[in-house]
Amino acid sequence: MDIINSLKKQNAELTAENERLSELAIQTAEVNRAYQESQSRFQAIFEASRMGNKIIASDLKILQVNAALVKLLGYTAKDDIIGKLILDYSPPEEHQAWRHLQQQLWKLTAPSFSLETCLIRKDCTIVWCQVTSILFNDNNQTLGYTIIEDITGQYNLRKQKEEFISVASHELKTPVTSLKATLQLLNRMLDKEQIGSEGLRRLAGGAEKNTGKLDYLITDLLNTTRIEQGQLALNQTTFPVSEIMDSCCNHIELEGKYLLTFQGDHSIVMFADQQKVEQVLMNLVNNAMKYAPESLVITMRVERLLSGVKITVIDEGAGISQRHLSRLFERYYRVEENTHQGSGLGLGLYISAEIIRRHGGDIGVESKPGEGSAFWFTLPDQNASSLVI
Ligand code: ADP
Repeated sequence: MDIINSLKKQNAELTAENERLSELAIQTAEVNRAYQESQSRFQAIFEASRMGNKIIASDLKILQVNAALVKLLGYTAKDDIIGKLILDYSPPEEHQAWRHLQQQLWKLTAPSFSLETCLIRKDCTIVWCQVTSILFNDNNQTLGYTIIEDITGQYNLRKQKEEFISVASHELKTPVTSLKATLQLLNRMLDKEQIGSEGLRRLAGGAEKNTGKLDYLITDLLNTTRIEQGQLALNQTTFPVSEIMDSCCNHIELEGKYLLTFQGDHSIVMFADQQKVEQVLMNLVNNAMKYAPESLVITMRVERLLSGVKITVIDEGAGISQRHLSRLFERYYRVEENTHQGSGLGLGLYISAEIIRRHGGDIGVESKPGEGSAFWFTLPDQNASSLVI
């Protein structure tokens, strides 16, 4: 009797186990079906995308490509590309930047990367691309997913625009410089020899001022071209901060409208390209006069840092709202509310930032609407800067 009961019990347990297994099999089939569905959805999107798509393994070898990438690289079959490295299609000078971003991605120090670079097609022509990469998990394996967009058209247009600006500003610079010098001479003669009427002197003075503005704009355009072409060379020397302060303040004092206040030790010596740092300081001071004309006090503060110097130009003008602050140093960025306040191309702060970064320093702004702005930059001291160059 005991044996029969025990067998019945075992049978019931086995039936229950069987039911559980059947249930599990149904669930697994369901998961499998969902996985297959998502896989084929992914494959369809991957394949149909007009942008080049590829999947790579952790050794960076290409596992999968879509038709658009095969076409972008000028090949006919996917197998021509599968098993290769994308750097096999990249000119050697582009490798370093690309490798650095790949390392950051695979070491998980960056969630993704985006890079503008070029690739070499089968016929040896160059295609400019915007490359975006992320990592993803597939069946417990980490893979890389990359989208490669052909931006050759946009790239060439941009280059043409830069070329045009470069040529136009070069062509404009010479006649404007000579016009400026002639007007300066004329004004000096009018003043010194007391010739001409008061009206004539005012006109000639106005013409000199406007030519000066034109010269400033052209210089900004030329500097931007130099930065884009990587030609912003530094000529570093040692000089006291007071020297650049003096040359940036003369014209403000002549204007007679502003009260300049100085804080900190101006005898601090810095190691930098004097002309370029002067240009940065001049830009910050001119901006304070241009965009904060109601601020009659402009403060220039010099602070010694642990390994460098910090210079701040403070105005008590209308200030700048938070949403603009992070973009002020971008090329061509202007705050729309302020554009009526003066001519400009939105290049002054961009050029300043490039000059300071080339020195290994930092640049920034603190500002609150209604409370004025404090634009600052730092420069490392002699030892630190010699490491950067
Ligand atoms: P721009 O050549 O147009 O003067 P900048 O790059 O020097 O260009 O400045 C970018 C923008 O930052 C300006 O258009 C202006 O709106 C804003 N800005 C710069 N300095 C100040 C300031 N001290 N107070 C308020 N706004 C400023």
